[in-house]
Amino acid sequence: MEKYHWNVKTWRSIINSFACTSFENLVDYDTPRDSGTKRQLKAAERTKTFYEQLFEQDEKVHGERILALGGGFQKYYRRKCAVDIGLNEDVAGYSVEFHEFVEGKETDEEEMKELLAETFSPLSPSKLRMVSGPFNPKMVVFLVAQGIDIFDNSFAIKLTETGHAFCLADDFPTNSNFEVVDFNDADKYADDWTAPFENCTCYTCTNYKKGYLQHLLNTKELLASILLVMLVFAGIFGYLPYA
Ligand SMILES: [Zn+2]
Repeated sequence: MEKYHWNVKTWRSIINSFACTSFENLVDYDTPRDSGTKRQLKAAERTKTFYEQLFEQDEKVHGERILALGGGFQKYYRRKCAVDIGLNEDVAGYSVEFHEFVEGKETDEEEMKELLAETFSPLSPSKLRMVSGPFNPKMVVFLVAQGIDIFDNSFAIKLTETGHAFCLADDFPTNSNFEVVDFNDADKYADDWTAPFENCTCYTCTNYKKGYLQHLLNTKELLASILLVMLVFAGIFGYLPYA
C-alpha cells in the first residue's frame, strides 16, 4: 500500500483547487469504544489543532464550512469537541462523526441519543446537521428524530454493491420497517418471474423480474447494479414528500 503525507495545508489546497462549495475540517477519526483517555485527549487536541491550522491568519479557504465533530464514545469528549471548534459563528452546519454506529455495527439508540445531545447542546439549533455513512431507514428515522437533517446515499450504494435491493414499508415513516431481497444465492431467484417488489412502481420493478436481475448479477453485467441502484434510490427518494 502506498502512503501519502497528509496535512492541513494539503487539505486546504485540495478544497481551493476543486472550488468546493462546502467542505469539512479534518477531524481525528471517531475513536473506538475501547480507546483510553490518553487516546481520546490526543484526538481532541489534534482535531482542534487541525481546525486552527485550516483557518490560519492570511490563509483563505473558499466555500461554506461544515464542522466535522467527533469525540467517540465519551460524552465529555463529544462536548469538548463541540465547544472547542463548534462555537464559531461562521459555519453553515455540523457533521457528526458517527462511524461506529453505522449499519452492521452494534448500536444502542439511548447511547446515540445521549452522545448527540452532548455534541449539539452548546451549538446553534438553526444550523444544518448531518451524519455520513450507511444508516438503514430505521436508523434514519431515529436520527431525524434526534435533529439530523442530512444523510448521504452510502446505505443505498452499500446494499446494491453487495447484490441487495430494498423496499420501504408502504406506510413509511410511520412504520420504519423495510424489506430486503438478497440476490447473493445464485439460484434462489433463477426461476422467479415476479417483480422484485410487487407494489413498487419504480422503473426496475415495473420492467424487470427477479429471475432476470439474478441472471444479470450472476453474469456480473453492469446493468445489474444500474437497475438495483435505480430501485433502491426510488425507494429512498419516494418517501421524501413525508420529510
Ligand atoms: Zn421498485
